[in-house]
Amino acid sequence: MKTILINVDSEKPEDGELEEAVRIIRNGGLVAFPTETVYGLGGDAENPEASEKIYAAKGRPSDNPLIVHIWDFSQLEEIVSSVPENARKLADAFWPGPLTMILPKNDRIPLTTTGGLNTVAIRMPSHPVARRFLELSNIKIAAPSANTSGRPSPTTAQHVAEDLDGKIDCIIDGGVVDIGLESTIVDLSEGLPTILRPGYINKEMLEKVVGHVEIDPGILDINAEKKVKPKAPGMRYKHYAPKGDLTIVEGQEDKVVEEINRLVAEDKANGYSVGVIATEESRDKYVCDTILTIGARKDEYSIAHNLYGILREFDELGIQKMYTEDFETPKIGQAIMNRLLKAAGHKTIQV
Ligand code: AMP
Ligand code: MG
Repeated sequence: MKTILINVDSEKPEDGELEEAVRIIRNGGLVAFPTETVYGLGGDAENPEASEKIYAAKGRPSDNPLIVHIWDFSQLEEIVSSVPENARKLADAFWPGPLTMILPKNDRIPLTTTGGLNTVAIRMPSHPVARRFLELSNIKIAAPSANTSGRPSPTTAQHVAEDLDGKIDCIIDGGVVDIGLESTIVDLSEGLPTILRPGYINKEMLEKVVGHVEIDPGILDINAEKKVKPKAPGMRYKHYAPKGDLTIVEGQEDKVVEEINRLVAEDKANGYSVGVIATEESRDKYVCDTILTIGARKDEYSIAHNLYGILREFDELGIQKMYTEDFETPKIGQAIMNRLLKAAGHKTIQV
């Protein structure tokens, strides 16, 4: 299959530029498009064949449900069996934006799209290209991240092409995405609102709107993950992984740098190509041939923004062993560490 690449202005896409992509997705084809979190791989959410194509293109297990993207709240009412008050409150506060809500579905959304579940994940993205594309298509768009299953999520159209060129109909290039980590997922289908995947919208932000919010114990740490299965099926799979071997070194900053430098020297002596993920603040303290700067601790969002791009860059450089500091930053730190721990296969060293 030949994949068409469409370039658009990320702030103000012209309708004419989106026309071909709209025609493709309305006819059951697959279109990757930018959102404020990561690039999504879209197909018609009400067409089970389109969902099957998404699973096939990504190599994604078909019991790992897709998020349904909408551009107007009335579309949510069309696909759920009831709209809880908390869903209205959260939509008022955070939509359009990087929040996904899990709600009981009705018959309009096929089980293929929800991986066999009776609930559906719904999000209203804020990215101008995603919004205009949804509006012109006038359908609900099922869209998981536009990467090969198991690889780091794509934050540029080039990342999408690396994984999916020749496997999907179209890629809309709207430049680099803003946040760089997938949406926060909150389950409103039963009991207390529960975070199933941390993201830019954190627990405190949600609690200001709906009161107490739980966190699925399955996503918090390795021990919990072994005992309690995470509720979001996707969080159970190995994910976000670079090709090399990543280890997180945790502890007091100077000790961490010292330990990473020691490990780098040891690996180098053993003939490995080694890389370090550093921050603006720490980069000059490392001794290593490949040091990639992820962002600045004084701007924690920069770290989230660059994480997946850095993991892909290490792959390109053919790095076999990588070390990183931990990033338990105040606002988006839980989301960063959730992804980083998965990328590292939960390999951590405490100093
Ligand atoms: P992605 O779109 O690639 O970020 O993946 C979507 C995430 O949402 C995966 O982790 C899914 O398991 C999760 N998800 C989608 N639908 C549901 C649902 N109905 N219940 C729980 N988790 C869901
Ligand atoms: Mg994904």
